[in-house]
Amino acid sequence: MFYLVTGGAGFIGSHVVDRLLANGKKIICLDNFDNFYDPAIKRRNISEAIKNPDFKLIEGDIRDLKLLKDIFSSHKISHVFHPAARAGVRPSIADPLLYEDVNIKGTMNMLEMAKEFKVENFVFASSSSVYGENKKVPFSESDNVDKPISPYAATKKACEEICFTYRHLYNISITCLRFFTVYGPRQRPEMAIHKFTRLIDEGKKIPMFGDGSSKRDYTYIDDIIDGVMKSLDKRHAFEIFNLGESETTELRKLISLIEKNLGKKAQIDEQPNQPGDVSITYADIEKAKSMLQYNPTTKIEKGIELFIKWYRETK
Ligand code: NAD
Repeated sequence: MFYLVTGGAGFIGSHVVDRLLANGKKIICLDNFDNFYDPAIKRRNISEAIKNPDFKLIEGDIRDLKLLKDIFSSHKISHVFHPAARAGVRPSIADPLLYEDVNIKGTMNMLEMAKEFKVENFVFASSSSVYGENKKVPFSESDNVDKPISPYAATKKACEEICFTYRHLYNISITCLRFFTVYGPRQRPEMAIHKFTRLIDEGKKIPMFGDGSSKRDYTYIDDIIDGVMKSLDKRHAFEIFNLGESETTELRKLISLIEKNLGKKAQIDEQPNQPGDVSITYADIEKAKSMLQYNPTTKIEKGIELFIKWYRETK
């Protein structure tokens, strides 16, 4: 029996791979090492996992249905964790057709495999971006999410709906997890915390979009992994869960925490708000707490300290 992790060399996927290996699972990691950011970073993410005989790397694309059929017919795959995607709001505005292709077609291919090869449990990586400019805070799974404001968010929303359709038609157990800005070791280099840290450390200006009052629910990677593992362990007919810390941090406060931990002052380049960006994300996590026993514990102050420790060790 194998666990298949798509995008298993990426930020979140590689952490899930490590945790599954530590729990004695056999893993297939399917990743195409795309150039969204330097693929050498992804190779480094899995440099320990690759030494483990229970880990098998397949370099390939979730859009390649023939490859997927080969993988599923030659391995008994019981669980799928599917984070492979094009991530990021702003790049999705620049190249929406690519986002549609990878995120929607790729996810449908994975669901086709789950149907054909009778996967026991399928966990899809969705995003808080589906909430768009939701005025009600905190955001809850029962809120209306039919107004996504970027192509990226729209693809995630579409995937959630397609997941529901496959559950309805084919009885597959499916869980969609709406991640709220995830950070920690291995965070993608273009994401704000990582990018700000690097630029401040190098004495360069950081672009700050808006006046610094926008708020995000930043979720530490260990808490996310905990929620993913609980979702893989427990089958649901079809459920959507928010995975956040359920605390918000203003952008200016985030910058000051990074400054404090680096011991360096930021040079801020104030710029207008960007299209597609939302002013707040804030997760209501009561559903995940009660149904998954999800219990995030990492406060932003501690999480930034841990991130910067990792940044210093690996730069
Ligand atoms: P990431 O870019 O580090 O990981 C994605 C991985 O998927 C990469 O290793 C990439 O090479 C791989 N990939 C991309 N296209 C592929 C394809 N066609 N075939 C096979 N592999 C492919 O991103 P991440 O930050 O780890 O995000 C993982 C998932 O979580 C994504 O679906 C993202 O939308 C979602 N998410 C992330 C966050 C966050 O804060 N990081 C927040 C909400 C949702």
